Amino acid sequence: MKRLLWLLALLLVPALWAAGVAGLARRIVQAGLDPEECYRVRELNFAKEDLRFYLTDGHLIFSKPVEGVRTAAVFTADVEGGDAEVLLFPPNRSERLSLANYTDSPNMSEHFKSAVFIFTDDTFIRLSEDIRAREWHRKSPEQGVLLAQTWEPVLRNMASSYQIRLVGDFLSGGRPQPGFFFAALAGLKLGNFDLLYDSRADEQITVGQVAVKEGRTYFDIWTRFPARSFRTRTREAPGLDLAVSNYRVDAIVEPDLRLRVKTAVRLVATPEDRRAVTFYISRQMKVTEALIDGEPAEVFQPESLRANLIRGGSNDAFLVVPPRELVPGRAYELEFRHEGAVVSDAGNGVYYVGSRGSWYPSRGLQFSRYDLTFRYPKDLNLVATGQVVDDVVEGHWRVTRRRAEGRVRVAGFNLGDYEHRAVTRGGYTVEVYANRRVERALEPKTQRVLLMPSPRSLTAAGQRRPLEVLTVPIEPARPDPTARLERLAAEVAAGLEFMTARFGPPPLRTLTVSPIPGTFGQGFPGLLYLSTIAYLEPEERPAGARNEPYETFFSEILSAHETAHQWWGNVVTTAAYQDEWLMEALANYSALLLLEKRKGTRALEAALAQYKTQLLAKTEGGRVTDSAGPIVWGLRLESSQVPAAWRTIVYGKGSWIMHMLRRQMGDERFLAMLGEFRRRYQYRAVTTEQFRRLAVQFLPPRFPDPQLEAFFEQWVYSSGIPSLRLNYSVRGKPPAVRISGTLTQRDAGPEFSAWVPIEVQYAKARPIVHWVRSSDGAVPFNLTVRQAPSKVVLDPASSVLRR
Ligand SMILES: [Zn+2]
Repeated sequence: MKRLLWLLALLLVPALWAAGVAGLARRIVQAGLDPEECYRVRELNFAKEDLRFYLTDGHLIFSKPVEGVRTAAVFTADVEGGDAEVLLFPPNRSERLSLANYTDSPNMSEHFKSAVFIFTDDTFIRLSEDIRAREWHRKSPEQGVLLAQTWEPVLRNMASSYQIRLVGDFLSGGRPQPGFFFAALAGLKLGNFDLLYDSRADEQITVGQVAVKEGRTYFDIWTRFPARSFRTRTREAPGLDLAVSNYRVDAIVEPDLRLRVKTAVRLVATPEDRRAVTFYISRQMKVTEALIDGEPAEVFQPESLRANLIRGGSNDAFLVVPPRELVPGRAYELEFRHEGAVVSDAGNGVYYVGSRGSWYPSRGLQFSRYDLTFRYPKDLNLVATGQVVDDVVEGHWRVTRRRAEGRVRVAGFNLGDYEHRAVTRGGYTVEVYANRRVERALEPKTQRVLLMPSPRSLTAAGQRRPLEVLTVPIEPARPDPTARLERLAAEVAAGLEFMTARFGPPPLRTLTVSPIPGTFGQGFPGLLYLSTIAYLEPEERPAGARNEPYETFFSEILSAHETAHQWWGNVVTTAAYQDEWLMEALANYSALLLLEKRKGTRALEAALAQYKTQLLAKTEGGRVTDSAGPIVWGLRLESSQVPAAWRTIVYGKGSWIMHMLRRQMGDERFLAMLGEFRRRYQYRAVTTEQFRRLAVQFLPPRFPDPQLEAFFEQWVYSSGIPSLRLNYSVRGKPPAVRISGTLTQRDAGPEFSAWVPIEVQYAKARPIVHWVRSSDGAVPFNLTVRQAPSKVVLDPASSVLRR
């Protein structure tokens, strides 16, 4: 039977494929609307699990079929009294809060005047059955002609954004997944917004809006959550088993900096891959050819902005269509040829590598072996992930082959006209490369030039964003990027040693540090990119970068943060956006630990105070930045409402969360926890809850929040920064001295509550810490101690993030 089905599939498929995938995509996108399938509908209701649509009165027109399949419809409430509504009740407090942030209501009941639906699920079948079953739905071909004229351009535009998915689902003929459903609505109150139901996603329901602010396009996610049947586990989301491994990359850097690459990779096919395999690559890269086990496969790589925005990654998906069906579970050898301009010239022989993590095809980040060969003009230096295994000069070219001795999730490279220093300590080598000159933007006599920001579009799916500061005003000095080379190498080596002693060995034995124009840094396995500014003596930096907090950022935090990512992000990793904060918080707090060791506790406290200031900074809407949402919303925090919220909350509040845990545990237990975190989860993806359960094991005995549930609920899963005040009085005589007091909390809303340390200090004895749980308003407390205290102090060691 199985064999027969397979034969059938073989017979059907070539008919589709003969026309080519691009041709199929064109036919789907340009199918147009079908006036013969236009209806005046009343009370036509349907649901996509939690999303419920009520087409109360109006016209509905379907698209023309392609190979017998209709993939779109348009609804308009263009009749007297016409109406339609969508209802949505997010399933938890956090998502209701998110929806309310954007729409002023925790639930959605929005009337709309028109809708474009695009789908590969059973929408057409279900709706047309309903239409046929009720006599009050009437065919309306005349109206259909008018609607087709008006709506076809809109539909084409939206369908082209989804063409990768449409074609992929089309080719797999509804198997094995039941497709997706997308709706673009024109709401009466909320304006244009999108709803997506995708059974292949980790969280199947997404509602949000495309918004442009200061020239940048955002997809503001109003709410995103698993659909009902997945919450109740009636259905299971497909696992993230995207097994690709053994990357072999052969890259040529042409004298004009264009990159021409052959990438070979082993793929174990999943059921979704049978007829079309999805990969991601930078928009700057054109995939020109693909082979599967040596046989040519078709490549389909269109532009699809909206779908990418909603997905959250900014790299483009492309499809590889195999010459014959792949067998799930079997391994295949894929070979790609791709080329593009991912290196640009920042002037003075300084080069900027864009698309640092997406210059070769990938399917998200997975631990893999990498073997990289670069051929490049011999007057350049090129550094990359891994150790050099071969390095020769051939005429005008230099050819360097590198291999990562362990498995890593991503491989990067950098190039320039470098000077370099190496420091070896305890079996690990740090190699620091510096450009001989600075980029034009940092040169004397230039006009004010904007530094290159870290382009968002260069982040692969699931990949960390670069750490950066906001624009720094440029007022150039006479900078020499090699001046600090010696010290920078010693500093990075000291940082690597400090962290290795606490977190265990880094993933690779060689850590290469290389410069990048701009104000940011990024930590790849075995390879750090550091802003050129970090290479300069503080007094040679641009004027704005010489003041605090920028000086500390470029001198202390940036390189240590990126070094710490060797462990947090490249040994222990995360899979979901909700957990990504852990890696940033740990990397940044590791940098603060190093800062504290080098510059003292004052320096650590100054950095934390700076983060607090940023968290409490008022947004345009008059709220504080922290209130944009809980840290577990991750990249969702980067919205048009508060563009800086992601950075401020993930780094700043994330550092505070680690600091508060440290204060609750004490230094020794906290460091032991970090060591254990690495041991327990190395080369695995970890979740926030796994981290909480680990932290619990390192709490001191009799800690009042023994499961850290209150702590995580308040600081991780919600937002809010309270003001706290202590009043107390002391009565009685030793050995029964009575302390009565109140702890008053304001500014964090009625639901906020946190455990707060109150320290009873003595002239001649060790202090006693008493924990009181705050809540909105005044909380009384009483304790009896044996001696008269000299003072009773609220939170003396900044253990609580408060105003
Ligand atoms: Zn980072």
